Order: sequence, then structure tokens, then C-alpha cells
Amino acid sequence: MNRRNTIQRRLVADAVRVLDHPDAETVYEKIVQEHPHISKATVYRNLNLLAEQNEIGKISTAEGADRYDCRTRPHYHLRCRVCGKLFDTDANFDRPETLLKDTNGFTIEKLNAEFIGICADCKEKEAPH
Ligand SMILES: [Zn+2]
Ligand SMILES: [Zn+2]
Repeated sequence: MNRRNTIQRRLVADAVRVLDHPDAETVYEKIVQEHPHISKATVYRNLNLLAEQNEIGKISTAEGADRYDCRTRPHYHLRCRVCGKLFDTDANFDRPETLLKDTNGFTIEKLNAEFIGICADCKEKEAPH
């Protein structure tokens, strides 16, 4: 891998860490502010590469674009239905697939679960003052 690729990949990984569960568009917008010559395709490609190599997590949510996560250990998320922000939970269902008695030969690879609600900031804004 050449030096330029390494630098680009590090930029993308750092942006994911700083932005806290961003989607690809948000990562691109952040990086392009300081690196105006980077292309959207480059950012998207690096996000996919990092996710494939399990250096970042890729989260599909029920609504909106996939999100990226600097935490790669399996964990679940709270999703605010108002602002869309994702929050990590410490909920730990140990091997939830073992709760299923019969999958009719279906091989489970992962559980994609999110808790949906309203975050503290949005709740504050909605509350009458
Ligand atoms: Zn919110
Ligand atoms: Zn997370």
C-alpha cells in the first residue's frame, strides 16, 4: 500500500472516531474541509475498506444511511428518532442467537438491533418551558 493510501485511510478512520457514528456523507464533509482535493469516492472506498478489515464498524440502521463506528467490539445502539444520533449502550446480550431454538437451517451471522427513542437533548427541546 502506498503512502498516499495510508494517509487517506488514516484521515477517514480519524474522522469516524471524532464524529461519533457518522454516515459516509458526514465523514466526507468533515475531511473535505481540511483536504479539499479528496474525492467523495476515495472517502467512501476507504470507509468500506476499513469496515471490511474490521478496523471500524458499519451499522445498518432502520432509517437512513449506514453509519460507521470506531468501536468494533459487538455492541448495541440507542437511536434518537428526532435527531438520528446513535449512542452506544452497554447492553450485552451474550450470544443472543442461542435464544432461538430452531432457525430451520438458517445460519445467523449477526444481530442488527437498535433501541429507538428520544435523546436527552431532543427531549429537553421538546419540553415546554
Ligand atoms: Zn436526539
Ligand atoms: Zn457504537
